[in-house]
Amino acid sequence: MSNPERAEEKTLILVADDDETARLLMRSSLEQAGFDVIEAEDGAKALASFEAAMPEIVLLDVEMPNMNGFSACAGLRKLPKGEDVPVLMVTGHDDVDSVNQAYEAGATDFLSKPINWALLGHRVRYILRASRTFRNLKASEVRLAKAQQMARLGHWEWQVAEDRWYFSEEVCRIIGFAPGDCAVTRQSVTNLIHPDDQGRVLHAFEAALRGEQAYDVEFRITLPDGTARIIHEQAEVTLNEKGSPGRIEGTLQDLTEQRHAEERIKYLAYFDCLTGLPNRQSFAEQVSHALRGAKRSKRPLALLFMDIDNFKSINDSLGHPVGDQLLRKFAERITQTVRGSDFLARPVEDQHELHVYRFGGDEFTLLLTGLQHEHDAAIVARRILGSSEKAIQVGSHELYATASIGISVFPSDGDDARSLLRNADAAMYHAKEKGKNTFEFYTESLTQISLERINLEARLRKAIERSELKLHYQPRVDAKTGLVRGGEALLRWVTSGMGAVPPSKFIPLAEETGLIIPIGEWALREACQQIQAWQAAGLLPTTISVNLSPRQFRHQRLAFLIGKILDETGLSPDLLELELTESAIMEDVSTATKILQELKGLGIRMAVDDFGTGYSSLAHLKSFPLDVLKIDRSFVRNVSEDPEDAAIVLAIIAMAHSLGLSVVAEGVENEEQYAFLKTNSCDEIQGYLFSEPVSATEYARFIETSESLPWRITDA
Ligand code: C2E
Ligand code: MG
Ligand code: MG
Repeated sequence: MSNPERAEEKTLILVADDDETARLLMRSSLEQAGFDVIEAEDGAKALASFEAAMPEIVLLDVEMPNMNGFSACAGLRKLPKGEDVPVLMVTGHDDVDSVNQAYEAGATDFLSKPINWALLGHRVRYILRASRTFRNLKASEVRLAKAQQMARLGHWEWQVAEDRWYFSEEVCRIIGFAPGDCAVTRQSVTNLIHPDDQGRVLHAFEAALRGEQAYDVEFRITLPDGTARIIHEQAEVTLNEKGSPGRIEGTLQDLTEQRHAEERIKYLAYFDCLTGLPNRQSFAEQVSHALRGAKRSKRPLALLFMDIDNFKSINDSLGHPVGDQLLRKFAERITQTVRGSDFLARPVEDQHELHVYRFGGDEFTLLLTGLQHEHDAAIVARRILGSSEKAIQVGSHELYATASIGISVFPSDGDDARSLLRNADAAMYHAKEKGKNTFEFYTESLTQISLERINLEARLRKAIERSELKLHYQPRVDAKTGLVRGGEALLRWVTSGMGAVPPSKFIPLAEETGLIIPIGEWALREACQQIQAWQAAGLLPTTISVNLSPRQFRHQRLAFLIGKILDETGLSPDLLELELTESAIMEDVSTATKILQELKGLGIRMAVDDFGTGYSSLAHLKSFPLDVLKIDRSFVRNVSEDPEDAAIVLAIIAMAHSLGLSVVAEGVENEEQYAFLKTNSCDEIQGYLFSEPVSATEYARFIETSESLPWRITDA
């Protein structure tokens, strides 16, 4: 028979008694009181019923066959879930002995016969309530202990008058004792405290004992196994009726992991992981701090801004892991140089300090305080430059990493961190312009230079719409026949106010500011339209190469854009060639391969410009879909006099041919150079010997008359 109410509402009671009448009476009395009852007629059956039905309370008669009540109770306690169930022992004898025996067997309470039936229900309900309260308490204790364990938080208590201590299990764990055999005393905690912290902790504890105050201390301990931990202790005093401390309670929390994490976060915020040097953030804070000191002491302060020369091309050609290693070793070297020698060794009160920071990328800053003279900074700069003349070994590479340094000093060049930094940076650029591997002090005229740059940029932004940009074309001549094979398009900018600005000045500016994207697009479209126009006018087809800057090359819409321009102009793609520098290709080899393949897919020819100035080898270039290699002007210049340059040029030609690339020599200015290149199988020549870059009209005339030009070699 099932009663839906029962499952939800009624408490199930197991009654075990061998006397059927007694069971019947119990049942009716308990059912009347609102309980559900199951019965068992001996101890063994009682255990089986308990396991099957899981009653919430058990009433056990003492005298039963098979297994008496005491054994049944003891057995019950060993069953799963039997540990906490309330057991009420029903005993016939009211003697102390059986009551004792009942408790020993684990009974919760006892009930002596004859039973007061009217009270039975109340008695049971009362025991149930007490047992539920007890269970809840136990559960919350377990939860609390778990929470404390997770927080590594232990609790202790000291009854002062009785000198009785209590330590929670977690305290034992925290101080490296096993929770079970925890023989902790206050002394055992004190013994572990770091000698430098002991006095502080003792002082706080004694003050608490005098009833003065609660305390809150952090200290280090060394565990019995030697590991160091960081502990936070808090304690509070409870006064007795007499107003003196009756009880002191405290918590111990192990904050080691938390403190380590905090230190790590702080480290990451203030130090650079690669070099271990303090970073830009530290620098910013230190400069402000040092400036306050300098203003107070009225002593100059110098800020050195240092940038590794040509780092980008090393990074691009040898890869970032090599670049990283180089930065690390470079940083090590400056730190050693700075630390290892007393730059400004002067008698008596010299108090200068020198710190190095990694500012970002290949930039480092140095802060020099407590100077006697502003120009002392030059000694430091010179020493650092001197130390960077030795090669740095990175794996199998022997690298030379020189640097350019800009110096600004307080108070002459500014009295706040921003202007000092800006001026040191400007001075650094000046050092680069002067040929690198040198240092420069900031001067007022540098401000002038940066103003000019800003001015130039503003003009460049308007150059396209004002039609100030033009393309000039420089012919490329077949070395053997002397016939014009094609030409290179070169940008020219003539401004209304400032006259002609050379590409070496405005192209890098355009690249830096991103203006190269619209300018480059203009040049591509202009060149394609021009080639088409020449063809329409009946001129022999001529291939024109257009320079692509690294930034344009990596611009995601490049292939799309060129495809569009080819469509618009209807130009045959094999009449267009694109020139790229080595570093643009080498920066990210896999992306470069993808872009080059897309461009090749359009049918365009690809050339490597200024070859030999980067760090890539021909072997590197093997995997790229290229057609042409242009030997840089710097090798061609002395090719007929300098055997070393001649050897390089010969090697480049031979290797390029073995890769199926055609070779162009740039910057050919005289007959000797031409003769050398022609004899040694260079394919094409470009240079002032034949023509400077000229306007489109002149270029057209040049092609028309090409057949009859003086160097035309008819017998080839
Ligand atoms: P580049 O691509 O290596 O161009 C060759 C440079 O050498 C040109 O300088 C040219 O006038 C010069 N040159 C040619 N023959 C001789 C010679 O016999 N002797 C000497 N001393 N120089 C010669 P230019 O026109 O001043 O251009 C400089 C650089 O500006 C170019 O070097 C190229 O990297 C860049 N550039 C020019 N036009 C563009 C362009 O449309 N887009 C991009 N991204 N860069 C361009
Ligand atoms: Mg070029
Ligand atoms: Mg070139």
